[in-house]
Amino acid sequence: MEQHSQARPTPKPWIDAIDAYVPGQARGGDGRDLVKLSANENPLGCSKAALAALAEPFNPAFYPDPDAMSLRKAIAEVHGLDPARIVCAAGSGDLLGLAVQAYAGPGDEVLYSRFSFSLYEIVARRSGAAPVEAPDTDYATDVDALLAHVTPATKVVFVANPNNPTGTYLPASEIARLHAGLPAQVLLVLDQAYAEFLTDKDTADGGFALAQRHENVLVTRTFSKIYGLAGERIGWATGAPGVIADLNRIRGPFNVAQSSQMAALAALGDQAFVQHTCQHNAREMTRLVAVIDSLGNHGLRAVPSKANFLLVLFEGAVTAQQALHGLAEAGYAVRWLPGQGLSHGLRITIGTTDQMDDVAYILRALVEGD
Ligand SMILES: *Cc1c(COP(=O)(O)O)cnc(C)c1O
Repeated sequence: MEQHSQARPTPKPWIDAIDAYVPGQARGGDGRDLVKLSANENPLGCSKAALAALAEPFNPAFYPDPDAMSLRKAIAEVHGLDPARIVCAAGSGDLLGLAVQAYAGPGDEVLYSRFSFSLYEIVARRSGAAPVEAPDTDYATDVDALLAHVTPATKVVFVANPNNPTGTYLPASEIARLHAGLPAQVLLVLDQAYAEFLTDKDTADGGFALAQRHENVLVTRTFSKIYGLAGERIGWATGAPGVIADLNRIRGPFNVAQSSQMAALAALGDQAFVQHTCQHNAREMTRLVAVIDSLGNHGLRAVPSKANFLLVLFEGAVTAQQALHGLAEAGYAVRWLPGQGLSHGLRITIGTTDQMDDVAYILRALVEGD
């Protein structure tokens, strides 16, 4: 009887090897609440139309629309896509996992760039596939390095564009070159979580067109970033009918809550809010970059960003960890990513104008030793 008291279910070895995702924090070491500039959320909140939709009465006793029909139609309309080529999920992170689950397993490889989204390694391991990192070039995704790391075992390639945590961006020509260099049986996942932050003068990376023309491209998007609906968990992806059918087979049947579908639908109808956020972000980004540039003599350096955050490198006397603690002392949580080889950097989410004034003041005081 005592014989099997020690027994317990044994996770698959690849599950055992996973370090769980570390979310951005909003609390200091002493338990104090901090201003959260650590998870790239929208500092302006979300559209009033989305809030109104969330306040609408609905009957939660019923399952949500399993196919998110209205939402997919609205997404298709905004982006000029075919709703039949769209699948929704509880956040785009879910779709990244489903993409690996559908096409890779033990013995296969999932490829991405060094200094890209930490979830890629987790979703690769979750399916038993081996995560493979290609080197970056000065913190940016390097297409030649990615192509050089493709092997017969490669099944999925992830590119976040703009990239997180670096904010760097590959133009359409580079994305096209990457796609052209991949074997047709490799799925290229273009993670466009921050695509809406590109400004008028930026050109789109061509992901939607590639996903329309080829069988092996999946573009993922989210309502968590510019739409300010991270708490509602809504993401979507577009790709060839075959890929979308594969993802539909393995997704949860009711994977987006009814309230979330309603909020996303309303948010899509308020593109003025998206524009406003984009302009706010561009303005504050320019100001923050100017501050970091002016502290260059103290070893601070900004990695050029097209997203809603800035990776600041600390290569002088004051270390990133010291700055992390200094900012926390002053009430701000930012992201330090030593686990990703970035112990010398802090990723700072663009906040409100007042918050950015504060952060600039704190950083200056820290490095100038006042
Ligand atoms: C935030 C983020 C996502 C979106 O995650 P959700 O699951 O949609 O909230 C996806 N990819 C990257 C690179 C991100 O930074």
